Amino acid sequence: MNRVLVAGGAGFLGSHLCDRLIREGNDVICLDNLFTGKKDNIRHLLDNPYFEFIRHDVTQSIFVECDQIYNLACPASPLQYQRDPIYTTKTSIYGAFNTLGLAKRTGARILQSSTSEVYGDPEISPQNESYRGRVNTMGPRACYDEGKRVAETIFFDYHRKHGVEIKVMRIFNTYGPRMDIGDGRVVSNFIVQALKGEDITIYGDGSQTRSFCYVDDLIEGMIRFMKSDKDFTGPVNIGNPSECTIKQLAETVIKLTNSSSKLIYCDLPQDDPLQRKPDITLAKSKLDWSPSVGLEEGLQKTISYFEGII
Ligand code: NAD
Ligand code: UDP
Repeated sequence: MNRVLVAGGAGFLGSHLCDRLIREGNDVICLDNLFTGKKDNIRHLLDNPYFEFIRHDVTQSIFVECDQIYNLACPASPLQYQRDPIYTTKTSIYGAFNTLGLAKRTGARILQSSTSEVYGDPEISPQNESYRGRVNTMGPRACYDEGKRVAETIFFDYHRKHGVEIKVMRIFNTYGPRMDIGDGRVVSNFIVQALKGEDITIYGDGSQTRSFCYVDDLIEGMIRFMKSDKDFTGPVNIGNPSECTIKQLAETVIKLTNSSSKLIYCDLPQDDPLQRKPDITLAKSKLDWSPSVGLEEGLQKTISYFEGII
């Protein structure tokens, strides 16, 4: 039985990861300061003797014993990470030092949840792992993007200097049940607006693209990566390469919810990337991974979840 630490385990992705790890017979320690996560996401696990919740901030040192670490602690939606941008940068950077320090002391293997945001507003499509990105260091997204980029640097330096076994995963837009209703991400916004019959808020003209991955596919990729060959450090893209415009997403959500909502057009936020599509050749060859849930199927499951909580 592995003792697995999930930092950020009470969040959207973290809680699904905890579920999966418990199902596979691990002893799970979920560490979270509930900045954007919720106890409700892990309530069903709290009575399990192989699950522990520790309220703790990753910007502070961590003292536990473990065999594996997943570092997911960081707000992920632009609305949330721009709420306190200095703290977001601290979370990424001090969080990397503290989780890596723990990995070094315990000998644990550690996975970092990096992001497609390291590519910024990309000049190439699809984005592969060797593309170095185009991030505005001074813009409102930089606290997140640059924090994650420095975190990758710290991970690779701990690997080279101290031999820590690292796994750096670049996650592309992921959606599903347990996204926070008010965290401002596009899938949750559109579904909630459609279910309530409110206007659907398209930022810009809706021609910008994203490629949406269903949460179960993402967690499968994460688990495979953690179990993969020791020498395969990544970075590796995990995401669904099927790309759509934000306007197409809105129309699909309206269709699936049978909603009477209308589309309205609002200002495009500064530095909003125009396109995003992962090249997953590396994940296919190294992890034998590719996503299996299509957009409509995944949206349907997510809509059912939001219908249950609204
Ligand atoms: P989320 O906001 O639901 O989860 C983040 C969790 O981290 C929350 O439970 C939050 O309370 C916790 N947290 C934040 N700051 C913390 C701190 N200082 N100390 C301890 N805990 C802290 O977001 P998510 O979508 O589940 O994202 C999880 C990870 O995956 C993040 O690192 C994010 O950058 C990365 N990621 C997610 C996506 C996506 O589309 N969901 C895309 C790219 C990368
Ligand atoms: N977006 C939108 N309406 C919303 C929320 C987001 O049009 O109510 C757009 C946003 O401008 C971006 C895309 O949807 O182009 C994805 O936004 P999200 O915040 O989900 O994630 P991002 O990929 O930008 O980090």
